[in-house]
Amino acid sequence: MVLARSGLGSTAYPIVLGTGLTGIAISRALSAAGITHVLAGARPSGTPRLGESLNAEGSLEIARQFPELTQFFFPKRQQALFFGGHAVSFDSLQFADGRPYYPLFGFPATVQLLHVDRMGFDSAAFDEAVADEHCMLVQDRPEWLDYNADSDSIRSVQFASGRTIEAAYVFDAGNHARFVARKIGVPCHVIGKQRRVVFAHYGASTDPSGVAAPQPAWGFATSLLRLDAKKDPAEGLAWLIPLGSYVSVGVSVDPSVTRASSGALLDWVEAGYARRGIDVKGSFASRGAAVDLTYEHYNHERCYGSNWLLAGISCCQVWFPSAAGVATGLVAARLAPDVLTNPLQTSQVYQAYMDRVAAIHAGLEWLVRDDPWSVSEGQLQLRAQAMVSSNVSRLGNYVGLEEPPAELAFSDAALRWFEQDRRSASPVRIDTANLNAQATQMFGTVGVPDPWTDAPIEVPVLTGSTNLEGPASILRLVDILSGKLGTDRSPAFVTEDVKVQIDQFSLSGVEQWIGWANLLRSATRVKGLILTAAALTSSSGEWVLTAQWQGSIDDAQMVSPTFTMSFEVNGDRVSEIQMQRAVCTFVTGDSIMPQVAFAAILGQLTDAAAVA
Ligand SMILES: Cc1cc2nc3c(=O)[nH]c(=O)nc-3n(C[C@H](O)[C@H](O)[C@H](O)COP(=O)(O)OP(=O)(O)OC[C@H]3O[C@@H](n4cnc5c(N)ncnc54)[C@H](O)[C@@H]3O)c2cc1C
Repeated sequence: MVLARSGLGSTAYPIVLGTGLTGIAISRALSAAGITHVLAGARPSGTPRLGESLNAEGSLEIARQFPELTQFFFPKRQQALFFGGHAVSFDSLQFADGRPYYPLFGFPATVQLLHVDRMGFDSAAFDEAVADEHCMLVQDRPEWLDYNADSDSIRSVQFASGRTIEAAYVFDAGNHARFVARKIGVPCHVIGKQRRVVFAHYGASTDPSGVAAPQPAWGFATSLLRLDAKKDPAEGLAWLIPLGSYVSVGVSVDPSVTRASSGALLDWVEAGYARRGIDVKGSFASRGAAVDLTYEHYNHERCYGSNWLLAGISCCQVWFPSAAGVATGLVAARLAPDVLTNPLQTSQVYQAYMDRVAAIHAGLEWLVRDDPWSVSEGQLQLRAQAMVSSNVSRLGNYVGLEEPPAELAFSDAALRWFEQDRRSASPVRIDTANLNAQATQMFGTVGVPDPWTDAPIEVPVLTGSTNLEGPASILRLVDILSGKLGTDRSPAFVTEDVKVQIDQFSLSGVEQWIGWANLLRSATRVKGLILTAAALTSSSGEWVLTAQWQGSIDDAQMVSPTFTMSFEVNGDRVSEIQMQRAVCTFVTGDSIMPQVAFAAILGQLTDAAAVA
């Protein structure tokens, strides 16, 4: 369908409404297929926009459709969720190569999830799109449609300037404006209550010579944070998306409950992340102007008609942690040329994809609905696995859009294997930790060093501080762990019901603490074992000790990596201690790392404590 470039008077054209990422991608796809079309809208503005963290289909499609704009893509290696006392990590493992038959089916060997600098991307992609001879840009807003209900088709679109353009086909890429659906009267199912979103971009901090601060450990993850009224000033669901020289920070709240100014809300979000160990301002100090909008979740009864398609968010909007919005626009773009030649069949394929996206919403509702402190680790595990499963099967469905060569078509067995591989590449990790240790738990294990290619790791040797200021009970526990005081002195320094949290394992009561301390002190691996404490700081009622194990192993002086332990103090005694078992492997060896082995050790400790 090649149409004349000039003379917008009487010829019917495919019309793309909207010049955001969805509209631009559709325009580019039509141009690539040699289809002359109208693109209606203004040049993308310099205002921050939503849709910066992509799911698997979105990441694959944006890389496929815009290979020349990779400078705006940043790797998303992980999605983190801070939810009450738990830190949930959705990892995304990268395979160097897929199974040998993948290329025959067109399956991707691996999926690099992406963050996208939308401001830079939309603007550059727009310039490219309008430079193509098949694209006729009309800088106008649609106002009215000539719609024939009997044939379910749009004859023409009238614009604010008074200009009317005959429509061969209409792609609505106007996002939540939902112009076409509203004008035609496509039934829209609004899901839940209206939400308010506030977000801003934060520029990288620089030192006096202008050098940007190094990427923090969380610099390759989308970090979601459930703000909850027990620990934060408001309820809400926040995000942190690193985009190279800046980060996107935002929060979605219930506007009927939270009417605070956008500035106050962002202050709370920053403080919320800091409470979980992520210092946003430390790395990205300059907050830009905030965008403050209301929005809703919805889905339309259908996303297509005889000659129109509701592309991307103009059809359905679901909870943003799905990171599905951009993908819905890009999948529409991928199908756009085919939809013109084979409208019914191609639209049904798109509808099936959108139905799967719409189904995500209900499975994410708990993120906002439930009290994070009442959801058990087991429940979280089930919910997180359900999210992975739904993502993997939707990805499989999308990959399967491309028919394999006829001679290779043998049912969908290969697709099921592909899905199984993707499931293995998407492990979920749940850690239980005090709030201020959550980020360390979450990001501490990312980037396991490669002894062949990475620079040698510098392990600092701490010298103990002689003038640590803090509760005496904590300092005495350091003495106990260093062997300077007997473990039997513990009752003077810990509460009777002291809680000891080691990863997701809990010990409680003085006897169990003594059992744990005895286990460390009696380990034979290190001689002259001491715990050298370098710093003791307080934040939000919790004390964080920075320390290092030191001693001799096989007659050589050795030190562990520097680590932190957290303490809560009640009166003059410690009531809660939080530590990781990984840092104790210096003392005990790796035998405590398998969960089952560690559970067995703790079981012996608790039995012994019960007998005592
Ligand atoms: C809180 C929140 C967080 C989100 N986070 C993510 C995320 O992390 N990942 C993700 O993939 N998606 C996310 N989304 C969805 C995301 O906003 C969209 O996926 C993304 O912006 C889609 O781009 P677009 O081109 O369709 O829309 P836009 O970029 O908004 O472009 C729409 C275009 O239409 C134009 N327009 C507006 N009104 C009309 C009209 N009446 N007629 C014609 N044109 C019109 C606009 O000027 C603009 O040019 C989020 C949404 C929300 C609400």
